[in-house]
Amino acid sequence: MKACKVNEDFHIVVVGGGTAGWLTACLLAADHGQSNGKHYLQTKTQGTSVRVTLVESPNIASIGVGEGTWPSMRSTLQRIGISEKEFLLRCNASFKQGSCFQGWRTGDSSDWYYHPFSLPEGYPQHDHSCGWLPFQEQVSFTNALSAQGRMCDLAKAPKTATTPDYAFALNYGYHLDAGKFADLLTEHGTQQLNIQHIRDDVVKIVTETGQARAPIQAITTQQNGAIKGDLFIDCTGFKGLLIEQHFQVERAQLATPLLNDRAVAMQVPYVHEQAPIASATLATALSSGWIWDIGLPTRRGVGMVYSSAFLSADQAELQLRKHIDNTLAQPSSQSTVAANTAASLSDAQRAAILKDITARHITLSTGIRKTFWVENCVAVGLSAGFIEPLEASAIALIETSASFISDNLPLAAQDTPFIAKRFNQTMTHHWHRIIDFLKLHYVLSQRSDSDYWYAQRQLDNCSDWLRENLQLWQRRSPNLHDLSMNTDMFPAASWQYIWFGMQQGQLPFLAAPPTPVSGGSEQVIDRAQLAFQRVANKTRSLAQTLPSNRELLAHICQ
Ligand code: FAD
Repeated sequence: MKACKVNEDFHIVVVGGGTAGWLTACLLAADHGQSNGKHYLQTKTQGTSVRVTLVESPNIASIGVGEGTWPSMRSTLQRIGISEKEFLLRCNASFKQGSCFQGWRTGDSSDWYYHPFSLPEGYPQHDHSCGWLPFQEQVSFTNALSAQGRMCDLAKAPKTATTPDYAFALNYGYHLDAGKFADLLTEHGTQQLNIQHIRDDVVKIVTETGQARAPIQAITTQQNGAIKGDLFIDCTGFKGLLIEQHFQVERAQLATPLLNDRAVAMQVPYVHEQAPIASATLATALSSGWIWDIGLPTRRGVGMVYSSAFLSADQAELQLRKHIDNTLAQPSSQSTVAANTAASLSDAQRAAILKDITARHITLSTGIRKTFWVENCVAVGLSAGFIEPLEASAIALIETSASFISDNLPLAAQDTPFIAKRFNQTMTHHWHRIIDFLKLHYVLSQRSDSDYWYAQRQLDNCSDWLRENLQLWQRRSPNLHDLSMNTDMFPAASWQYIWFGMQQGQLPFLAAPPTPVSGGSEQVIDRAQLAFQRVANKTRSLAQTLPSNRELLAHICQ
């Protein structure tokens, strides 16, 4: 492989101006570029001057969905140099404290649980899951060991008005408007980070030999001619202009197929201005797919992900509209948020709201590349791969990719092949583990109300790693040692939240881990009960002190 070189002017060309393109460009420019003549933050790329150019087509819209982020976004925004207040105001953003899964176990209306962002009490030093098991019929794993689910029930913010930017009482990410986020990053990237922005179509890829798969010398644009570069980041979305069309890297056949390949998205108004803003993404399972419901300050983003093998686009849109109608009409047993939003609207009022809502149908090109970094090109975002947004992991993967590239600059020619190899190994690992994690939500379900659920629950579609763990976790909780990389995107605590959330009340009383500190089962239960007490105290205190999401956002707006 011909490697990228370190030279006086290392030029990174990012192709694509969606969330992936702008986040990557901003992170690289913030870490290594210069802002308005002076070094921005600490310039890591000593001796090399890094320029970042972003080329985006004025004719091809970015996907414009992707409204849920992970807590990692807080450090990404800080690293880029955007204040939290500006971000919240400009991106119509709100606080996200996790996901709430409704209807995934049995489909009953009383069937729901949280996967919160805060770790369980005491974790990872103390794992109280075994001590919780005897009480599994009385209290959920999340509520026993975290205050966050209860705070989500109350639509509380994760902090108070006096908590500094990006700090928290309860860990959080964001819900945001993807289009507005790209606009903010464009402005910040061009005005503060000196990113050169070219709005043009890339029409050709130029190489030294003129052959496909050769290292890229330049990209040719319609109006601005050739743009030379040392490193090219492919952020062109599903089409993968550089990685697929030039380097001919296909999407790998997934050993663990995820069946959902279509989505339909809608923007739903609140029924009144003061309606509570939900603190978690609500993911509701239906007979042939699932629905996301995301609360922004001025609207909800609601959509359905489904499999075209089991449902037509018209049927999906109909089911989504019916679901939205229900959320407008009936208080949900799951959350007081929905109850409060559900001011008593008449049939005619709800019909009028629904009539004004347009549906956007999206085909999902599910799959991941066989490799992501080839020669001097790295695929980031949808061009690297896509799997259904059940745990909103795509933007977090973009942040991880951009961070990896940035932390390895400057690229010395002799090291680049190793860096590329490591990037490919790391990202392949992350994608496969995320697929396993999503599959866990399906294989643990007891739903049998449709062929779709029979297909989704199939164990023979699981990876060997997941199958082994499904067996192992019958006898002990998921723990740190199950994850081979300490930088795994989902910590062991997340596996516990889903494992216990999906099977509450039906788990065997697992043996306590045989360590000198754990002692016998009585001590394990005693210690767990002390942890429950601490969580109960914290829950009471937070319920009194935390403002609601809407109150805190209104305060920030002032
Ligand atoms: P795009 O947004 O498609 O951008 C592609 C860019 O490439 C555009 O700017 C386009 O102009 C440019 N381009 C294309 N061709 C050319 C050319 N020839 N010349 C120049 N420019 C070109 N992720 C999450 O993290 N959380 C979520 O909750 C979430 N929900 C999702 C829901 C759905 C239904 C879908 C489909 C995705 C969701 N995602 C989510 C994923 C998320 O939307 C994407 O990962 C994210 O938006 C990144 O997209 P992108 O920038 O890679 O691609």
